[in-house]
Amino acid sequence: MLVMKFGGTSVGSAAAIAQTVDILATYSRQEQVVGIVSAMSGVTNALLAKAEAAAAGDSEGVDAARATLLAPHRTAAVELLPNGDRRRETEATLGALADDVARMLYSVYVLRELSPRARDRIVSFGERMSSVLVAAVLNERGTPAQAVPADRLIVTDSVFDGASPLLEQTRARTNATLEPIFAAGLLPVVTGFFGADERGITTTLGRGGSDYSASILGNALDAREIWIWTDVDGVMTADPRIVPEAYTLPAVSYAEATEMAYFGAKVIHPKTMHPAMERNIPIWIKNTFNPTAPGTCISTETSNGRVAKAIASISGLAAITVEGRGQLGVSDVTARIFSAIGRSGVNVFMISQASSQHSVTFVVQDSQAELAAAALRAEFATDLARELVLSIETNRDLAIIAVVGEGMRGTPGVAGQVFGTMGNEGINIIAIAQGSSELNISFVISGADVRRAVAALHRGFALAR
Ligand code: ADP
Ligand code: ASP
Ligand code: MG
Repeated sequence: MLVMKFGGTSVGSAAAIAQTVDILATYSRQEQVVGIVSAMSGVTNALLAKAEAAAAGDSEGVDAARATLLAPHRTAAVELLPNGDRRRETEATLGALADDVARMLYSVYVLRELSPRARDRIVSFGERMSSVLVAAVLNERGTPAQAVPADRLIVTDSVFDGASPLLEQTRARTNATLEPIFAAGLLPVVTGFFGADERGITTTLGRGGSDYSASILGNALDAREIWIWTDVDGVMTADPRIVPEAYTLPAVSYAEATEMAYFGAKVIHPKTMHPAMERNIPIWIKNTFNPTAPGTCISTETSNGRVAKAIASISGLAAITVEGRGQLGVSDVTARIFSAIGRSGVNVFMISQASSQHSVTFVVQDSQAELAAAALRAEFATDLARELVLSIETNRDLAIIAVVGEGMRGTPGVAGQVFGTMGNEGINIIAIAQGSSELNISFVISGADVRRAVAALHRGFALAR
C-alpha cells in the first residue's frame, strides 16, 4: 500500500492534473494506492478571503463566489474530460459543491459572523472540489477511481484550524470506509486538509495540512511508504527561493524534517512526521513535474557526515519583551506570561530569558503580536500601575533563522561558527535559542537581513554543491 499526496500546484491546472493522474495510474497498476489531494492552488486562499469578506458585509463577493470558485475547476474539466457525459456529471457535482459554499457564505454575510467552525467548513470545499475533478479524470483515462471526503476517514478533536487526529478511531473509520472501495477495484482520491470531530463536524488540520492528512492515513492503513508530490525535487538545503544554490538532500531524519518544517521550510507540514514515525513509515518528497528525480527520503536515517544539513527561516515575526523589577521574581513573571499567552491562543515560536535584566522575550507571528501584547497588558494591569512591570515592548519585522542537522549534536564549535558568520556579515542577533536535542540552533534577526543571513550560513557550512 502506497499513500500519495499531491499538493496545490500538482492539481493547480489541467496540465498538472494530467501529470498527477498519470503518476497515480502508473503506480496503481503495481500496488494498492490511496491518493490524497490539496485544493487547486489559490483556492483555499480565495475561500478564506471570501469568508472574511462576507463577514465584513461584502455582498458582491458573496454573489460572485460561486462563479469564481467554479472557474479554475471548469477550465480544467473542459480540457481533461472530452467525454461529454462525464464532463456534465462532474460539472454538476462541482456546481452542487459551489452552491453549498455560496449558501454558507450568504449565511455568514447575513449574520456578519464567521465562527472558527464555519470557517473550517467553508475552506474544506477546495479539497472537496479538487478530489471530484481528479477522480473524474482518472476514470476518464482508464483508472477507476472515487472521490472520498476525509470527514468519512479522519476523526479529530474539536480544535478548529488546528485539529489533531484521534488515531485509533481514524484507523477503524478509514479501514471500514475504504474496504468496499478497494473491493470494488477503485482508487480512492481522498481530500487533504480536513477531517471531522466525533460529532461529524468538519475540522481542518491547519494551513498546509494535506501533508499531515497523508501521514495520518498512512498510519491508519499501515502503508509501506508515504509519497508527498510537490513542485520541488525534495527537501533542500535551504528555501530555493532564497538560496538559488540550494540542492536536494537525498535523506533527512524525521527529527530534522520536523525542525526544518517548524522553522519555515514549507515543503512539508511540521506535524507530518509524527504519525509516520510512530509506525516507522518512510516519507518521500517527490516532484510531480520531474517524477524521475529520486526525491528525499524522510526516515530514521540520519547523518550525511555533515554537521549542519539545512538552513530554514521564518519571516513576519515580532518579539515581545516583558521587563519587570526585581521584586516581582522572574519565575513568577514567566509563569504568568505564558499562561496569559496560552489563554489568548497565540503561538510562540521561541523564548529567551535574561534573568539579570528580569526580562523575558518571546517570538510570535507579527499578525498575532497585538493580541499577545493586549493579553499581557491585561494580565499585568495592576503591576504596570504599581510600576513593578516596567515595560511590555513589541519589536516588529523580525525573522528566525534555524540551522538544522543531527550532526550538530555533541559537535563543539557549531554555535561559534553560526554567530561568527553573522558577525562577519555585520548582522545583529536579537535573541538566541538552542533546543536541548541539539539538532537545531535558532536565533532572531531583523527581517531585512534574512536573505543575507541564510546565504552566508549556506556558504559557511559548505552546503552548496
Ligand atoms: P504543495 O502545494 O505541494 O504542498 P508547498 O508550496 O506547500 O507545496 O511547498 C513546496 C515549496 O516549499 C517549494 O516550492 C519551496 O519554494 C518551498 N520550500 C521552502 N523551504 C524549502 C526547502 N528547504 N526545501 C524545499 N522546498 C522548500
Ligand atoms: N489547501 C490547504 C492549504 O492551502 C491544505 C494544503 O494545501 O496542504 O492550506
Ligand atoms: Mg504544502
